[in-house]
Amino acid sequence: MDKLWAPWRVTYIAQILKKRKGCVFCAMFRQKTDRKNYVLIRGKHSYAVLNIYPYNNGHMLIVANRHVGEFEKLSREERMDMFDLLLTTKSLLQRVLKPQGYNVGVNLGQVAGAGFPGHLHMHLVPRWKGDVNFMPVTAHAKILSQSLEALYRELSRAYKRRH
Ligand SMILES: [Zn+2]
Repeated sequence: MDKLWAPWRVTYIAQILKKRKGCVFCAMFRQKTDRKNYVLIRGKHSYAVLNIYPYNNGHMLIVANRHVGEFEKLSREERMDMFDLLLTTKSLLQRVLKPQGYNVGVNLGQVAGAGFPGHLHMHLVPRWKGDVNFMPVTAHAKILSQSLEALYRELSRAYKRRH
């Protein structure tokens, strides 16, 4: 039976976050281990990271550097930086993965499906025709992490060629 495509309601990342102490997005911001964390691009006020529980190949998160849960709590400059980074990331995905479309989404508040409502992040999900059945998710965690590493390297190389 086909699964319903409901990317903004399902929050796999929440399962991980519950097991960790503190905020995973703050930790990624502070840590210098971008490769290990799959942090791909750092802007002035935000960063782009591969979602380790992707809804689709190339699923990225655009994360505010500061720990705030609402757009209203960011300065105008920080909001602009996040949006610019969203577009930079989209253009990178377009060059490397050539998707036919994208879902861009934000979950504000737990009731809206936010896995971690305290720290603002935007989802950028590449889409291809007929891709709705992607998502074995936890079943093949090792295979997934290997393919994430390969994708990270590929995107990282493509980004460095242009910047
Ligand atoms: Zn945080």
